[in-house]
Amino acid sequence: MKTITCAQFGGDCDHKMTAATEKEMSDMAWKHVKEAHPEKFKMTQDMMKGAKPEQKAQSEAYFHKVWEAAPEDK
Ligand SMILES: [Zn+2]
Repeated sequence: MKTITCAQFGGDCDHKMTAATEKEMSDMAWKHVKEAHPEKFKMTQDMMKGAKPEQKAQSEAYFHKVWEAAPEDK
């Protein structure tokens, strides 16, 4: 399991999210942004809609890097 905060993903609060897999973390992070930062969620959705494939890949790569850098929970 890894614990990553909203702020580590470039978010606006220190909400902690714990997940076993990168996919699970991604789902959790999206859910959190949707519930806690609805304006940011909408902004990101709009941005992703108009994003080029390389921009999407870049944002996925960023997420992956944060996930990889997070230490495994003991
Ligand atoms: Zn947050």
